[in-house]
Amino acid sequence: MNSIVAIVGRPNVGKSTLFNRLVQRREAIVDSVSGVTRDRHYGKSDWNGKEFSVIDTGGYITGSDDIFEGEIRKQVNLAIDEADLIVFVVNVEDGITPMDAEVAKLLRKVKKPIFTVVNKVDNAMREPDAIEFYNLGLGEYFTIASINGSGTGELLDALAEKMPEPEEVNLEEEALPRFAVVGRPNAGKSSFINSLIGQDRNIVTDIAGTTRDSIDTKYNRFGFDFNLVDTAGIRKKSRVKEDLEFYSVMRAVRTIEYSDVIVLVVDATRGFEGQDQNIFWLAEKNRKGVVILINKWDLVEKETNTMRDYEAMVRKQIEPFTDVPIVFISALTKQRLFKAIETAVEVFQKRKTKIQTSKFNETMLDIIKTSPPPAIKGKFVKIKYCMQLPTQTPQFVFFCNLPQYVRDSYRRFLENKLRDIYDFSGVPITIYFRQK
Ligand code: GDP
Repeated sequence: MNSIVAIVGRPNVGKSTLFNRLVQRREAIVDSVSGVTRDRHYGKSDWNGKEFSVIDTGGYITGSDDIFEGEIRKQVNLAIDEADLIVFVVNVEDGITPMDAEVAKLLRKVKKPIFTVVNKVDNAMREPDAIEFYNLGLGEYFTIASINGSGTGELLDALAEKMPEPEEVNLEEEALPRFAVVGRPNAGKSSFINSLIGQDRNIVTDIAGTTRDSIDTKYNRFGFDFNLVDTAGIRKKSRVKEDLEFYSVMRAVRTIEYSDVIVLVVDATRGFEGQDQNIFWLAEKNRKGVVILINKWDLVEKETNTMRDYEAMVRKQIEPFTDVPIVFISALTKQRLFKAIETAVEVFQKRKTKIQTSKFNETMLDIIKTSPPPAIKGKFVKIKYCMQLPTQTPQFVFFCNLPQYVRDSYRRFLENKLRDIYDFSGVPITIYFRQK
């Protein structure tokens, strides 16, 4: 599982600029694929072969000036609970403020690796000023200027050093699917799980959220074997109320990271809202499979086209990634629970699809021949060869002479074709263009 890095600190020290620095390189690739506006506070990055998530804890709270100290404390506590590595940002211009000292006090009790990052050290004159922060006595110490990126390479080296080696990609492995049931509070997650696994429910114990090995529990229902990953919704109690977007995202991140397929439970009576969308993008960004369950369908008054219209409305919200299975269920009356699990298993299997290279070339090069990339500034892109990469999730590379001249619209065209031919319903796919 990838490490989670949380950026903490009081408002206006430069957390979001650092966040952007850390995620920039990779986001550019991923977002151009999906064409999605990115969440400005959660992103993926990689360094020295290690992939990780970055969360800007401050970004989720607005009105930074009149922010309550209590809010900062909640943020830091949650980061302590949920993250693997903590980056504590301070601002050299202000010196150690009382709020910095408060945050430092909370962090001092933590056993996880902490990196104190002194920001805005953008000239040599400021280096001596930064030394004061040594006095905080917190973990490793770095000076950076996130505005121009100086010092971030060293920080990334140090972060990557503390992350576990990436897991071996074992393509032969016949592991059980790991499902995570996620969604807004009261969407019906617990009810769904209860209806599904009934008495065994109490096997799912209250785990602090950091024990990686015991985070999931094996079940068999309707003839399917699967693991349910422990989620915030079924934990007995959490340290903070999930009233803010930040808290639900933070809680969902680890669960999502650890799963293969995200089962997103939506309350039909409330519609598909912002938070549902956020969780959806979180799953997509992590290249996880997704099934959307529209729950409490028993409460919806139905006319001829109610389901069709509802489905269209949801698909509109998740554009352009629209070929996601949507199942209308009722946890209460147990309507379509079999269908829900069957669909999740199907998505899991599709996510493992491996397409033979020769067949893939035959099919795709044919399409490319008929509809080649449009010439840009007189440059003609010639795609000569393509293949699926030996990765855990479907990723494809197209080798060509001028990869930099391939437009996003063409990438999407290829993705749509790929989705038409090979059924990747509910599975995010990634397409790269490389020079050969
Ligand atoms: P969670 O916070 O997502 O785990 O949501 P719960 O499972 O606790 O459900 C929240 C409320 O919605 C409870 O009062 C449930 O009884 C109710 N509920 C859940 N699923 C259904 C459903 O399919 N139909 C109806 N009518 N009520 C439901």
